[in-house]
Amino acid sequence: MKGSLKLGTIGGIGIFVHWTFTLLIAFIIYINYRTGYNAMQIAWSVLFIVCVFVTVFLHELGHSFAAKSFNIKTKDITLLPIGGVSRLESLPEKPKEELIVTLAGPLVNIVLAFITGLFIDFPSTSEALAQELSAGVNASNFFLNFFIVNILLAVFNLIPAFPMDGGRILRAILSFKFERHVATKIAARIGQFLAMGFILLGFLYNPFLIFIGVFVIMGAQMESKYADSKYSLKGYRVRDVLMKQFTTIDAAEPIKTAIDLLLDSQSKIFLITENNEPVGTLNRDQIIVALSEEGENFLIHSAMNKSLIYLDVETLLEDVFELIYKNKSNLMLVMENNELVGTLDTENLLEFLLIKGVKSKKDYAN
Ligand SMILES: [Zn+2]
Repeated sequence: MKGSLKLGTIGGIGIFVHWTFTLLIAFIIYINYRTGYNAMQIAWSVLFIVCVFVTVFLHELGHSFAAKSFNIKTKDITLLPIGGVSRLESLPEKPKEELIVTLAGPLVNIVLAFITGLFIDFPSTSEALAQELSAGVNASNFFLNFFIVNILLAVFNLIPAFPMDGGRILRAILSFKFERHVATKIAARIGQFLAMGFILLGFLYNPFLIFIGVFVIMGAQMESKYADSKYSLKGYRVRDVLMKQFTTIDAAEPIKTAIDLLLDSQSKIFLITENNEPVGTLNRDQIIVALSEEGENFLIHSAMNKSLIYLDVETLLEDVFELIYKNKSNLMLVMENNELVGTLDTENLLEFLLIKGVKSKKDYAN
């Protein structure tokens, strides 16, 4: 992720922290200072936040290690002020695997809470508990706070709504009985129904819940659409959607050539060649950036995307759907017997889905 600092590598997984994390620390210090806390109290608060994020990191690592047992690699884990994100190379789709990989995260929090719980003398009444927590984090209530945070993290993540872990767990359980796209749809609907509840409660009690509600509604929508699209592609191959006509430009041409083609043709992504061999791709955004930063005489060779993605013409679309989806603004090269026979991009795929959708509706009407 842009603006992230690499902290290190664990088991081949890059660990990053986003720069905005420093804002969170600064914010905590400021709030504590405003409350009138002394340096010692502020230090405890900061230490606590750092520990919470180590916990979030361990939660993500839980997902990663579980995924590793199914041979799914994790590219990296990034810590953001709102939580952690681990990027798996692919998502487990077998219900049992998805269930285990997803459960592994909240399980880490439950185990941490359990271990911490062994060392705590819990206050006997809720008044005593409130009293204990009211003074902010300090040496005497540090573990109690840590225990509570882990319970909250586990409960929050287990809410059965995408994009929370609980949504995936629900989908995995439903997948034992239903087809994946049906299971996704049911899980998404349940999540959205819960999200409405969050939003309602948010207006009454805590605005933060509104934020979570909106997040869930959008997450569920995306998840549902993704599963539907993937299902509609079942049985089709790259051959069925490839574009035989595509525009190529020589890498030695200036950006101006690309701009002229952009304005004159339907193409929005170009294949860049050198001695008639593909060497890169160039999309509209890259053209605009190059134009505004370097001018129209800037060479395409320096502006293009040099990572080429090759697809075999016989590959099943559902197997490369994730790859195509992840490379939204890139052009993929379709090969047959080591020869370039066409290209493919997300827009292609979307058009294909759109036409298929209209066709199946018509069939249904007939
Ligand atoms: Zn998780």
